[in-house]
Amino acid sequence: MGHYIFSDEHEQLRKSVRRFVERELAPYADQWEAAGGFPDEVFRKLGAQGFLGLRYPEEYGGQGGDYYTAIVLAEELVGAKAGGVGTAVEVHTEMATPPILKFGTDDQKQRFLVPAIKGEKISALAITEPEAGSDVAAIRTMAVRDGDEYVLNGSKRFITNGCRADFAVVVTRTAKEEHWAGLTLFIVEKGTPGFTVAKKLEKVGLHSSDTAELVFEDCHVPAANLLGQENQGFYHIMWELQGERLIGAAGAVAAGQRALDLAIEYGTQRRQFGRSVAKFQANRHRLAEHATALEAARQMVYATAWRVQNGEYPVKEISMAKVFSTRVAFEAADFALQLHGGSGYMMESEIQRLWRDTRASRIAAGTDEIMLEVIAKELGL
Ligand SMILES: Cc1cc2nc3c(=O)[nH]c(=O)nc-3n(C[C@H](O)[C@H](O)[C@H](O)COP(=O)(O)OP(=O)(O)OC[C@H]3O[C@@H](n4cnc5c(N)ncnc54)[C@H](O)[C@@H]3O)c2cc1C
Repeated sequence: MGHYIFSDEHEQLRKSVRRFVERELAPYADQWEAAGGFPDEVFRKLGAQGFLGLRYPEEYGGQGGDYYTAIVLAEELVGAKAGGVGTAVEVHTEMATPPILKFGTDDQKQRFLVPAIKGEKISALAITEPEAGSDVAAIRTMAVRDGDEYVLNGSKRFITNGCRADFAVVVTRTAKEEHWAGLTLFIVEKGTPGFTVAKKLEKVGLHSSDTAELVFEDCHVPAANLLGQENQGFYHIMWELQGERLIGAAGAVAAGQRALDLAIEYGTQRRQFGRSVAKFQANRHRLAEHATALEAARQMVYATAWRVQNGEYPVKEISMAKVFSTRVAFEAADFALQLHGGSGYMMESEIQRLWRDTRASRIAAGTDEIMLEVIAKELGL
């Protein structure tokens, strides 16, 4: 029996995403990992299935679904066997495009959101800078008004989809003095003079997702591409990061579960000292503990998703779900690799990739420590 937050329609969706993932994604995982990315065409295929607009309104080409549909997608994308695929897709659907729906003008929705939902335009969200990581308010990329344009100067790093994005939602500073209040979002299109991809970054894991350093040098962006309200960018972005963090937590739990399943499968088959290694009490108990922690994380994600779906904005619980889920997922993957012995450390194993990929989720979209800071603040500390 499925969880109570999911209806029959969600289960149907799960089946159709799973079929797509098994047919169109998983068979190519090794190839895309080696190549450092997957073809743009995959976005178009996902768009054609409606998977890039599950919870977007029908008037923009979306499916008009609820928040849970995004959870289903994140969970099922783990079946792609390359975490970078889910990362790239979720940055597109859950990070870069939500502010366009919420704060964009109708013209911006037609130019960027509609083709993004179809998979015809790929998007990125550029917040992080060399001097501004966890401290988003330290952003230095300046946007200065010049007639009916803004001139951008600065750089961004660690930007998912950055190499190939058709447009990036870029967080800039428009007021020098005001720490939080001086940030503004712009939609910057590929090919805009002064906007370059300086470098494709090599990562420990998530090889199927490209990560870039972006540079803006006297980059003239039309004022029509200002997203939301001037100097309100910090609040716009903080709002949308919450939704993404919970979806990320759902994906992490699914990845941790996949690692646990692999550990049980391998540990049952692998025999030493005349027994399956999974059956030694030391290992059975560890497996049982990881299964328990993952179940607790899953319930936390679902209960928090229920609150989001019902109109709440539970910042504390979202942060708790993010830090807890990503930790238990990585811990499960780490133990699963251990139970594989030397086989787990070989590049041909599936578990090594899960181990490398799950590690990133404790850093991206807000580190463990920043989640704990948010929770502590909510506790009045
Ligand atoms: C795979 C991947 C994909 C990413 N994709 C994107 C993307 O698409 N767009 C984007 O804008 N960014 C992206 N990022 C960047 C990511 O959001 C940042 O790496 C993250 O927010 C941390 O910033 P930082 O790396 O500068 O670390 P820092 O902020 O320099 O932190 C260094 C360490 O100090 C700790 N620390 C910082 N402040 C505190 C504090 N107050 N209390 C306690 N400890 C603290 C941190 O937790 C961390 O352990 C991505 C990162 C990764 C790894």
